[in-house]
Amino acid sequence: MEFKEKIKQNYFKILEDIEKACNKIRKDFKEIKILAASKSQSPEKIKVVYDLGIHLFGENYVQEAEKKIEILKDLSIEWHFIGRLQTNKVKKALRLFSCIQTLDRLTLAQEIQKQAEKLDLKVPVMIEINIGKEITKGGIFPEKLEDFIEKIKNFNRIKVIGLMCLPPLEESSEKARPYFKKMRKLFEKIKSYMGYEFRELSMGTSYDFIIAIEEGATIIRIGEALFGKRD
Ligand SMILES: *Cc1c(COP(=O)(O)O)cnc(C)c1O
Repeated sequence: MEFKEKIKQNYFKILEDIEKACNKIRKDFKEIKILAASKSQSPEKIKVVYDLGIHLFGENYVQEAEKKIEILKDLSIEWHFIGRLQTNKVKKALRLFSCIQTLDRLTLAQEIQKQAEKLDLKVPVMIEINIGKEITKGGIFPEKLEDFIEKIKNFNRIKVIGLMCLPPLEESSEKARPYFKKMRKLFEKIKSYMGYEFRELSMGTSYDFIIAIEEGATIIRIGEALFGKRD
């Protein structure tokens, strides 16, 4: 099958699944934002997804994103950074992305503050939570979140708009549910004092987005279920 047709089918299947999950929790399915995770996907495929109506994309690598963003600059795409951000790439990342979803450490916050000051920007970020406390992953441990927020609260160039996570890979998607539940609790707890701009809970991938929506995700990040397998 032609890749356009395949992507279209994938998209409609995803919409169906989102609608089902939303019906289950009595939520309007329009409240769920789909972020297309486009790492290692071609600009041609990104254009197909864009034409289907997804205008929010996420990239993991600054250099790769830079090329694609240049090629696709005529489309009104909102680009989020969703990878591990090295401090020496912050300056470039701030020019390319409208949101950094993966603020995972204090040194990164310091660098964002510094570069945003120079560029005269206010940067929307999400704090990445290491919800499974995996040593191989970045992110703030759940019990350290409030302390972290306290540490960055005077960083006037950073606007925290939500939390994101990538839970441990399990053999069944249902096993991710307790992690998503924990994220939701954490989210609600700090939402009470973070102000109206704090409203996004970015969780769920191709594999477990239905469960993530049931547990309160506002943004789901879909890669392979939409584009097909990465090269
Ligand atoms: C790649 C990636 C995704 C999408 O993963 P799929 O399994 O392809 O849906 C979501 N979030 C992050 C942070 C990613 O790196």
